[in-house]
Amino acid sequence: MTAPAHGEQRYWPQGFGVTASGVMTVGGRPVTHWIQEAGGTPLFLYDSALIAARIGELRAALPERVHLHYAIKANPMPDVVNFIAPLVDGLDIASGGELEVALASGMEPRHISFAGPGKRDAELARAIAAGVVINLESEGEMRRAARLSREMKQPALVAVRVNPEFELKGSGMRMGGGAKPFGVDAERVPAMLAELGELGLEFEGFHIFTGSQNLSAEALIDAQDKALALAAELTRHAPRPPRFVNIGGGFGIPYAPADKPLDLNAVGTALSARLDRLEVEISGSEITIELGRYIVGEAGVYLTEVIDRKVSHGEVFLITDGGLHHQLAASGNFGQVIRRNYPVVVATRYDSPPEESASVVGCLCTPLDRLAEKIQVPIVEPSDVICVFLAGAYGLTASPTRFLGHPEPAERLV
Ligand SMILES: *Cc1c(COP(=O)(O)O)cnc(C)c1O
Repeated sequence: MTAPAHGEQRYWPQGFGVTASGVMTVGGRPVTHWIQEAGGTPLFLYDSALIAARIGELRAALPERVHLHYAIKANPMPDVVNFIAPLVDGLDIASGGELEVALASGMEPRHISFAGPGKRDAELARAIAAGVVINLESEGEMRRAARLSREMKQPALVAVRVNPEFELKGSGMRMGGGAKPFGVDAERVPAMLAELGELGLEFEGFHIFTGSQNLSAEALIDAQDKALALAAELTRHAPRPPRFVNIGGGFGIPYAPADKPLDLNAVGTALSARLDRLEVEISGSEITIELGRYIVGEAGVYLTEVIDRKVSHGEVFLITDGGLHHQLAASGNFGQVIRRNYPVVVATRYDSPPEESASVVGCLCTPLDRLAEKIQVPIVEPSDVICVFLAGAYGLTASPTRFLGHPEPAERLV
């Protein structure tokens, strides 16, 4: 890893380099090469070698029996999903659109699980026809799936998504504990499981997802422990033992200058010990972990060209041809409470030391469109390229591309 010579970050995403002339490289080639090949900026690059390496690290750290799923919500680009599918044990989806992407990847349907709180009848019917597992988010959804299964004369594979009493402490986004639109409150699950059996649905497992973007091994270990205990307890009410217990994911990546990476080995070691004393009710079940951003987030970059450098009341603004319409999260408007800079550098002057403080903004006519606030950069000229790191997850897919009517950026898996 060659760390850039400017910018603010204690922990830079690993795996990027620099040419002798100071241009940042992705996948061993200068960003200028990829930009030329794509026909210009803005451009998202996803490095397949980095994705594969990350999956390798997960396999090495997690117990062998753990099934690893990719949550394609983080990056549903078909090339990315097709690349990842053979490297993982399953895919998690959350819409009819993602269902088609997952099926096209060649993943076996029973290793695709479909979560999401508002599945339409047409989406449920497609899932039943394809033979993917429906993670039931409510009793109402269970009854609709049962009716469709009867009408279609096809079995419906289902899992119950549980909204547990506990939460994943300190998560960027909490998705369990208290009143939630996701899953069925744990105390109602026994009654639901009884009805599920009577309705003739094929019970496959439990899905207990408690949160996202967590950098604390301790918090993750605690949540995994509780999820397994809860699944074992609920199994006593199930029509048959679960084929799988999905204990969620939530592994975070360092975004802000002060963030430290997750201690993956600590999570793996604790889970290994926990599985050695797995409850008898779920001793034969697949134990599944589902991850999105941890697999792809650090492998992606967003490249945007400087159009103008201007000074206002002493503050330097680097105005780019990109912005929040492609990379909303970096602007701090994707659920963040406090705006903190993503790691941002001048890719065409990667090894140049800082010379001034500047704010990197997008081309949208709104003050929200900030890609980096007052970072240390070399003196930049129009046509220099800015790199926003950590663009592999929740980048283009989580951005309002129609806002202001600019063209869509290109995306490449390299
Ligand atoms: C969003 C989501 C994920 C992926 O979360 P990451 O933070 O990207 O790992 C996984 N499972 C469910 C149910 C989700 O809603």
